[in-house]
Amino acid sequence: MQAIKVLDGGFSTQLATHVGDVIDGDPLWTARFLATNPKAIISTHLDFLNAGADIILTNTYQASTDGFFKHMSLTEEESLNLFCKAVDYAKEAVHLYKKDRTGEENVVNDNPLIAGSIGPYGACLHDASEYTGKYCSSVSEKILIDWHRPRISKLIDSGIDILAIETIPCKQEAEALVTLLKEFPNIKAWLSFSCRDDGRSIADGSDFQDVAIQCYKKASPGQILAVGVNCIAPQNVSPLFKGINGNCKKEFVPLVVYPNSGEKYTVESGWMKKEKGFTLHQFIDEWLNLGVRYIGGCCRTNVEDIKKIRTEVELWQTKES
Ligand SMILES: [Zn+2]
Repeated sequence: MQAIKVLDGGFSTQLATHVGDVIDGDPLWTARFLATNPKAIISTHLDFLNAGADIILTNTYQASTDGFFKHMSLTEEESLNLFCKAVDYAKEAVHLYKKDRTGEENVVNDNPLIAGSIGPYGACLHDASEYTGKYCSSVSEKILIDWHRPRISKLIDSGIDILAIETIPCKQEAEALVTLLKEFPNIKAWLSFSCRDDGRSIADGSDFQDVAIQCYKKASPGQILAVGVNCIAPQNVSPLFKGINGNCKKEFVPLVVYPNSGEKYTVESGWMKKEKGFTLHQFIDEWLNLGVRYIGGCCRTNVEDIKKIRTEVELWQTKES
């Protein structure tokens, strides 16, 4: 069986333990710290590695050349250089982590990978439209591809191991990204959607399973490592995944999940208290049984969540082997 990979948690949530509560609401979100506080970025990555993450994500989710120009007056070259820096800081964290582990035995995550984070076009509009996909009907495939290309290209050139395409709210953008990936045949990616709370649709209303499986099959063979969902309340994950795997006649589709804590975000009010009763950890076994092979946390999850995920994953793998 393919090994389960543990991802990191909410970068902004963990970064806040180093820089204070000044991140959410910023139009560049954590990407601003690429220019202002590299040390805090490296420390945040290290926190997740020490918690047991196999894969850490660069803090480039909301980074774009137009965003850096608009909010920091950076040239295109300076902006793209920050993508390169994001990969360098993640590499530095991996280097420090490995150095600290020299001579230790039985390290579960002894060779961590770096995933380049690619958020949707809507994330850079800074109006929470990655949770609605409302821009998708008015933006052409060409615009989406031309907008994503320099970010993906720069992350790949800077030495990432895989791409984390995340929080994609609409079918058009997912398909555009699958088409664009064919220009970069040597990189593998996961494709994670922003979904509604109804247990079946992505944010634009399209059927999650239809879109996810179509994208998985439309991609060059092997290029999409997994499809799935992130930044969703934990209790809404399993209904989306049920039925994708489990029938031996069907091709196994590896799944990725990294939910948020269950709190809800609005641009006006920030993070609101969650519906009580549900935690991410109670669903881990269920998700792994449904075919999840990449699992971590998104917004409002921290190192403690990743430690618990690591423990649960180890237990599940022991049980399965
Ligand atoms: Zn999130």
